[in-house]
Amino acid sequence: MLTGSCLCGGVHYQYDGEISEIALCHCGQCRKAQGSAFATNAPLLSAHFQITQGETLLKTFYSSAIKKRVFCGNCGSPLYSQRDDKPEVLRLRIGTLDSPITATPSYHIYCNSKAEWWQINDDLPKFRTTN
Ligand SMILES: [Zn+2]
Ligand SMILES: [Zn+2]
Repeated sequence: MLTGSCLCGGVHYQYDGEISEIALCHCGQCRKAQGSAFATNAPLLSAHFQITQGETLLKTFYSSAIKKRVFCGNCGSPLYSQRDDKPEVLRLRIGTLDSPITATPSYHIYCNSKAEWWQINDDLPKFRTTN
């Protein structure tokens, strides 16, 4: 069981499973949403993910017609994204995890919109858009 929470501690979640894949997403939307060079996103099975505290604090922003980004409305921590046409999967922002994990980053996506000030210096697979 993995657990995580937002910065203010108002929202807590748990995941009954393992993190097996970590995408480093350099798309412009993720950069804005995280305020960072890239996002660290792990696909999870929605059915095994549960908000255990603070569900009423969650806010949702649709960054495209069918893709929502869910964050804590109190502190702003980004928690996950989810597509309306693929509700069985959510993409957790793993910087919010409290449990240790053994997985390491899997690949870079949306390298075509990477911040010009960030250099990718590893040998992971790099995809121009999605993988
Ligand atoms: Zn919060
Ligand atoms: Zn992205």
